Amino acid sequence: MPSIDVQQLSKRYANSTQAVFSDLSFTLPQYESLNLLGPSGCGKTTLLRLLMGLEQPTSGSIHLAPELGTHMSYVFQEPRLVPWRTCLENVLLPLELTSKNSPAARDRTLDLLQQLGLADRLQHFPGELSGGMQMRVALARALITQPKIILLDEPFPALDERSRFRLQDLLLELKSRLSLQYVFVTHSISEAVYLGDRILLMDIKGHVKDWRPVALGERNQALKLTPEFNAVVQTYTQLFGEMESGLLDSNAVEAQPC
Ligand code: ADP
Repeated sequence: MPSIDVQQLSKRYANSTQAVFSDLSFTLPQYESLNLLGPSGCGKTTLLRLLMGLEQPTSGSIHLAPELGTHMSYVFQEPRLVPWRTCLENVLLPLELTSKNSPAARDRTLDLLQQLGLADRLQHFPGELSGGMQMRVALARALITQPKIILLDEPFPALDERSRFRLQDLLLELKSRLSLQYVFVTHSISEAVYLGDRILLMDIKGHVKDWRPVALGERNQALKLTPEFNAVVQTYTQLFGEMESGLLDSNAVEAQPC
């Protein structure tokens, strides 16, 4: 059974004459994580918002596996922490809002913050934390509700490279330890290849230009130095280049695994 099934999806905002995308279809297999790649304005955030139920499709359908639809979290481009709440209080917020702030849930929060390397920052306010730490708090806040899927909208670009790599590995570790699926939006081809079981490449008109699994096996930062990894990155760099020079036709390409 697929985890996400999108069929002939179209979205046009009420204040716009042009559709962001029309006739977008893909089926994400169970347990796979998806990376959305494409030029700015092609509709990646819109697709996330549709998956989240924050926007309604103009036409077409989105079906989520039932356990995903009821256990979904979202991480925004910026951490969006409440500045007057401490690190711990920010993570507890979703539990408070849903009246689930039990002593057991608080223990779970402390445990999670420890796993995310924030045990010594519990009483710090967001303004006292680095960008990477703030993003870890945002990730903890998204994880505390025990989601089965997280939608992440370009969560790491504002970070320095080392923090970004650490958070990439953290996400992969959480994926395997908690059987967590994610849909991850990025501008970075290398990041998409590193984090994605599968990549959906969209063009500026919101057409599916490429849809394929990334068959690279186990991820670790050393993988990024291998010819295999760089060959996949090169494939997408080329696809981007072809897209930009209009060499690909407007039909979806069903390609073989890299
Ligand atoms: P991406 O995430 O790929 O950069 P977006 O999904 O943010 O793209 O935007 C896709 C298109 O939809 C853009 O042309 C953008 O201006 C437009 N758009 C996004 N949100 C809205 C909105 N709330 N109302 C009208 N147009 C919007």
